[in-house]
Amino acid sequence: MYIISSAADIKQKAEQIRRSGKTIGLVPTMGALHEGHLHLLRTAAQENDIAVCSIFVNPTQFNNADDFDLYPRVIEVDAALLTENKCEVLFAPAVSEMYPEALQLKFDFGPLETVMEGRFRPGHFTGVAAVVSKLFHLVKPHKAYFGQKDLQQYAIIRRLVTDLSFDLELVCHPIVREPDGLAMSSRNRRLSGPERQVATHLYKALQLARDLMANKPVPEIRTAVTDYLKQYESIKLEYFEIADAHTLQPLTSVAPKTTVALCLAAFVGEVRLIDNLVVS
Ligand code: AMP
Repeated sequence: MYIISSAADIKQKAEQIRRSGKTIGLVPTMGALHEGHLHLLRTAAQENDIAVCSIFVNPTQFNNADDFDLYPRVIEVDAALLTENKCEVLFAPAVSEMYPEALQLKFDFGPLETVMEGRFRPGHFTGVAAVVSKLFHLVKPHKAYFGQKDLQQYAIIRRLVTDLSFDLELVCHPIVREPDGLAMSSRNRRLSGPERQVATHLYKALQLARDLMANKPVPEIRTAVTDYLKQYESIKLEYFEIADAHTLQPLTSVAPKTTVALCLAAFVGEVRLIDNLVVS
C-alpha cells in the first residue's frame, strides 16, 4: 500500500492511475477504523480497480475543540487494517496540506442543514463540504463511498455533487452495527464499560420508534422515545427526529408510502453519538 501525505503527491498518483485506464474508489474517513469503515473499503475495492482511503481528522467540521482534540488517532493500526483489506493507497495528510490557508468559503445547503446535525453543530457541514470537495479534486475518484450512519452528511454530499457537477458516482453503504445493535463508530472507543452497555439503548429507542409507527401518531412516538431514554442517567438526548428520508425535514404526521428516517443524537457520558433507522 502506498502511504501518501502530500496533496501534490496524491494528485500525481491519482492522475497516473487514471491515465493507466484504472478506476478509483475513494473512502473518506477520519481514521480509528472499525468494521463499518472496512465494509466501505472492501466494497470500494470490489467495485473499482484501486481503492483509496483517506484519513484526516478535519478541524473545520468540529465545532467543539475537545471533541477534535480527543478524537482517536491510531494511524499505524489503521494502516495495517487497510493493507489487510485491499486498500492500495492511503492518503493521510497533515492539516497544513489540506488547509495551506484558513478556510474562507462557506456553504449554505438551505433547509438540509438547518435541522439535526446542522442545527446542533453550526458550521459542521461547511467543514464537511470543504474537505470532501478538496478530496474529490485531489483523488479524482470514479466512485466515492459514504455510510448511511451519517445520513444527513450523505444528503449534503449528494447536494454538493449535484450543485458543483462533480463527475463521480456516490455510494451510500448501510449502517454496520455491533452484535448488540450499537452502530459502529470511532467514538465508541471513548466509552467506559458501563457507558458502552447503556449505549445499546440508542438503537433500541430507534427500534421502539419504528414499532410504534404502525399505530401511533408522531407526537406520541417522540414522547415514547424521549421517555425511554430518560431511564438511563448517562444518556442525554440531544435530538430525536422523525423526518422525511429524502428531504430530512421533520414530519408532524406520516403519510402512507413515505420513507421515514428516525434519527437521533445523544451524549453517552461525554461522548456524542448519532444513529438512524430508515423505515419504508
Ligand atoms: P468517519 O471516519 O466517522 O468520518 O466515517 C467515515 C465514513 O464511514 C463515513 O461515510 C461514515 O458514514 C462511514 N461510517 C462510519 N461508521 C459507519 C458504520 N457503522 N456503518 C457504515 N458506515 C459507517
